Amino acid sequence: MIDISQYEAWFITGSQHLYGPETLEQVAQHSQEIAAELGTKLPIKIVYKPVLTGPTEIFKLMQEANTTPNCVGLIAWMHTFSPAKMWINGLKILQKPLAHLHTQYNRDIPWDAIDMDFMNTNQSAHGDREFGFIGSRMRLNRKVIVGHWQSTDVHERLSIWSRVACAWADWQGGRFVRFGDNMRYVAVTEGDKVEAEIKFGYEVNTYGIGDLVAEVNEVTDAQIAELVATYETEYELADDLRDGGAKRESLRDAARIELGMRKFLTDRNAKGFTDTFEDLHGMKQLPGIATQRLMADGYGFGGEGDWKTSALVRAMKVMGAGLPGGNSFMEDYTYHFAPGQEQVLGSHMLEICPSIAEGKVRAEVHPLGIGGKEDPVRLVFNCPAGEGLNATIVDMGNRFRMIVNEVVAVAPAHELPNLPVARILWEVKPDMKTGVAAWILAGGAHHTGFSQNLTAEYLEDFAEMAGIEFLIIDADTKLRTFKNELRFNEVAFRG
Ligand code: MN
Repeated sequence: MIDISQYEAWFITGSQHLYGPETLEQVAQHSQEIAAELGTKLPIKIVYKPVLTGPTEIFKLMQEANTTPNCVGLIAWMHTFSPAKMWINGLKILQKPLAHLHTQYNRDIPWDAIDMDFMNTNQSAHGDREFGFIGSRMRLNRKVIVGHWQSTDVHERLSIWSRVACAWADWQGGRFVRFGDNMRYVAVTEGDKVEAEIKFGYEVNTYGIGDLVAEVNEVTDAQIAELVATYETEYELADDLRDGGAKRESLRDAARIELGMRKFLTDRNAKGFTDTFEDLHGMKQLPGIATQRLMADGYGFGGEGDWKTSALVRAMKVMGAGLPGGNSFMEDYTYHFAPGQEQVLGSHMLEICPSIAEGKVRAEVHPLGIGGKEDPVRLVFNCPAGEGLNATIVDMGNRFRMIVNEVVAVAPAHELPNLPVARILWEVKPDMKTGVAAWILAGGAHHTGFSQNLTAEYLEDFAEMAGIEFLIIDADTKLRTFKNELRFNEVAFRG
């Protein structure tokens, strides 16, 4: 499982010597107080750093941040006025995400008591604008958060940013394993893996399915018995999968596959994987329950060789670590076009993550119809109603583009007795025709990362950190405006 509590963000404060040592002491006290407060509100550690008053110490701090593995980013605040030319050389080398917290120690103006001393120590209203200018002048990607440091809104914005920064840190040097290549002829699952490693920091490498099969064949009967016992505890088994059932051997085969995959991924310290039903030579089944359970444990996954979605699902799982609800690989499967009740049925052949399940999760075995293998065991479940989103990253040739569509999941009104796969129903924002047309015009993939616990703000922050194009399709989307945004972005990202 993913644990983000090991990560930390550094709280840095800018000032200068102009105000004298007493004021700087007060600045330091205020900063320590704010850092301590944020430490109790954010999901990661907040580390207070001594007040920065000159270019050399700023440069040194940035160097240190770059080389501290657990430091996922900097939260910067200019308590007083910190002339921003002091920041240029430091910011130039900063390789970690930056949040600019535009706050002030005092929430209220003390109307009766306010004097020039107060003005001296509470001047971030303009001090932070100086810092803002240099960020813009240097074209730095960063998040700007405005508000009083004790407000829940500021805590929420910073919590989101810090979770996203953890996902970004997790990608750096991250390994994604492809079992076999891409599904033949499929376009959107392809892409430039070299550019992805330069831009995103993760590596994607392919292994022959035979390497995995060798690992699967090493699994012992004792290991299989233990995992089958776990299946029996965690899921409701279909009759034919129970002890003495006609398909019991299929469950043992599925357990063998899971154990082999898990070992293969663990040995390589991988954070996610892909497979494809066209490349299963030597495998008895397409991995179903194995992939579902690995996803539930935090691995990213993309079907048909879709490494971009695998990496995105992993990032979304890091962002959502510990929050109620889940994140899964997803595919828009089929439509309900009934006027006024337009819905999308989302599913995949097998590989939906049980972290988004509601109610009982059943293990069943049924034929698949493609792949030409034995019947695969899969977990079957429904998903709860509620706000959600679908996210994708596509390779546009000269850049990566992220597209997010906000959706509302709806409770299933029907049993679907003949569709034994995990599934979810949702309504598209702003409406089916506009939302889907926008998605298609933007080139959004048929595979997505589906989330129950992330808002568009998470993905927007993530795109900002990565420095890639971000398109949102939400309740405010108008198709004509959206088409113009696509045209404008062609120019904005030219180069
Ligand atoms: Mn697919």
